[in-house]
Amino acid sequence: MSNSKKLIGIGSTAIHASGHNNADHAHLTPIYASSTFTFDTAEEGSERFAGKDKTKLYSRWGNPSFTTAQETIEALETFGLEDEQGNSLQVKALLHASGQAALTTLFLGNLKSGDIVLSHHALYGGTHELLLKVLAAASIGTILIDLNDSALVDASLKENSQIKLIHIETPSNPTLRCVDIEQVCSIAKKYGCLVSVDNTAATPYLQQPFKLGADFVMHSTTKFLNGHGTALGGVLLGKDLDKMNGPIWKWHVLLGGNSNAFDAYLLTQGMKTLALRMEQHCANAMKVAHFLANHPKVEKVNYSGLASHPDHAIAMKQMRHPGALMSFELKGGIEAGRKFINKLSMCVKAISFGTPDTLLSHPASMSHMGIPREERLQSDITDGLIRMSVGIEHIEDIINDLSQALEVA
Ligand SMILES: *Cc1c(COP(=O)(O)O)cnc(C)c1O
Repeated sequence: MSNSKKLIGIGSTAIHASGHNNADHAHLTPIYASSTFTFDTAEEGSERFAGKDKTKLYSRWGNPSFTTAQETIEALETFGLEDEQGNSLQVKALLHASGQAALTTLFLGNLKSGDIVLSHHALYGGTHELLLKVLAAASIGTILIDLNDSALVDASLKENSQIKLIHIETPSNPTLRCVDIEQVCSIAKKYGCLVSVDNTAATPYLQQPFKLGADFVMHSTTKFLNGHGTALGGVLLGKDLDKMNGPIWKWHVLLGGNSNAFDAYLLTQGMKTLALRMEQHCANAMKVAHFLANHPKVEKVNYSGLASHPDHAIAMKQMRHPGALMSFELKGGIEAGRKFINKLSMCVKAISFGTPDTLLSHPASMSHMGIPREERLQSDITDGLIRMSVGIEHIEDIINDLSQALEVA
């Protein structure tokens, strides 16, 4: 990573952190759409294979287009942070094809049969299934508890020496529950247990888990980091460089969840406006949350920026702003949800989040319609629940659209 540039603002870092990574002086790192890289001589081949830098050998192992994106994310997640010796904190990022691929490397790279992951309820659906179906089949267990209950976390670690990793997702979607990262990390340290944080919903602009003691950070870059909905991607970062460059890198290349040059390029360009976008996303979200909280057709708003949210204090403690995701419940249940969604005119009906456009979905009639009602309610997906990723449009356009759609709800 290029540490020569010490910048004052994280927004400048998003733009300038990476090198240009090409010999032709192109301003933007080109899309290196090449599966393999050439050697002039056998000696040069030996040198490159023996060297630490494996980015110019074979694209499953690395590629200059990935390097540029990785350097940017490394710089953002460590912006302003120092290690125990007072030097700039160094971490290593590995770009993946998707958030799921990054999670797979994280879990399989750190756990073996018989080990246990300690995590919490309200995880991203893909993470929940990966843990309880795929890892379970490989005899890696999962225990889900309330990670904000410090006595329970302590007791769980004391009773189960097989717990090797605590995995935190904060804030979680769609109810915006937050976990106190620093508190969990300090308990984990006592037991030599590793902590990973899914920082997808926050981005390093809002929250830096390494500052709070985490060992690993992962993202679905598909969301706010790419920021434009143009490509899937994932990243896994770790602060144990020997482990990241050794066994974790090995698992990553053997599992084959590598990114590709085009998606890496789109991610790199998208991240340049991260600070600007997040400010606008969050400012809009706060106004939308207040608008909804005061609306007669809305039963409840789940947004950690509101004082009424159960994890408001945790969000305020560890995040710059409470983010741009929220959910709300319509008083009229399933039918109101359907009518409301159908009446939206500017806002987009879609799942996922972190695009410039405001996205809304109604899980009960869309993504979760196949799940039995009882089961759905257990994960807080009520009949009238609407999920929302607030975009960066003009705030009045967003509120006008919501307002006219709420008339029919
Ligand atoms: C989307 C998402 C994932 C999975 O990422 P993909 O890029 O879809 O594979 C993991 N965690 C969270 C919090 C997500 O929102």
